[in-house]
Amino acid sequence: MSIEQQISNIKNEILDKADLIAVSKTRTIQEIEEAYNSGQLKFGENRVQEIVDKQSKLPGDIEWHMIGHLQKNKVKYIAGFINLIHSLDRISLAKEIDKQAKKEDRIIDCLIQIKISKEDSKFGLKIEDFTDFYKSLETFENLNIIGLMGMATFTSDIEVIDEEFKMIKRVYDNVASINPKFRVLSIGMSDDYNIAIKNGSNMIRVGSKIFGKRNY
Ligand SMILES: *Cc1c(COP(=O)(O)O)cnc(C)c1O
Repeated sequence: MSIEQQISNIKNEILDKADLIAVSKTRTIQEIEEAYNSGQLKFGENRVQEIVDKQSKLPGDIEWHMIGHLQKNKVKYIAGFINLIHSLDRISLAKEIDKQAKKEDRIIDCLIQIKISKEDSKFGLKIEDFTDFYKSLETFENLNIIGLMGMATFTSDIEVIDEEFKMIKRVYDNVASINPKFRVLSIGMSDDYNIAIKNGSNMIRVGSKIFGKRNY
């Protein structure tokens, strides 16, 4: 099936419940153009060098989302154009994003990445550290925290995934109920976005279901 058809199928499935971020990491400019030409304007990447390169070659009305682990020393390369950073998980990174955002005279929207999976390889803030972490971000004037991101365990056990999404949704609801700025829950990928949407996701990050299997 073509990229265009896949996007259209997913959009028909999720309707207006969630925003679709097309995860274009490892994909070529041509593949991204094909998605763009079908009306997809939001793309997610996980490597700074790749997102900078693609941003410079593709149309200016694309919204770029940084969804992968972000090193402090690379924030400066994306601060001028990034629309949403999904992977804020430590104070030192918040400080650097705030500093670079000031330099660019921008306020950068961020999601706090919460570690919900039991796998060690995943980044993210421990759920028990969330409240203190969130409070400590109040001083950063050029950071705008608008929600949470999470990645479920890579497993075919639906109950495990469901439980992990419920966990992050509870944290999300606690803040969203008192702070209207908190409005994005970024959970759900190719294999689990249906479970995520049942659990209140309003932003899904889908790569392989749109573009086909990646080689890593
Ligand atoms: C690669 C990636 C995705 C998309 O994964 P698919 O299984 O290809 O849909 C989503 N979120 C993050 C953080 C990723 O790194």
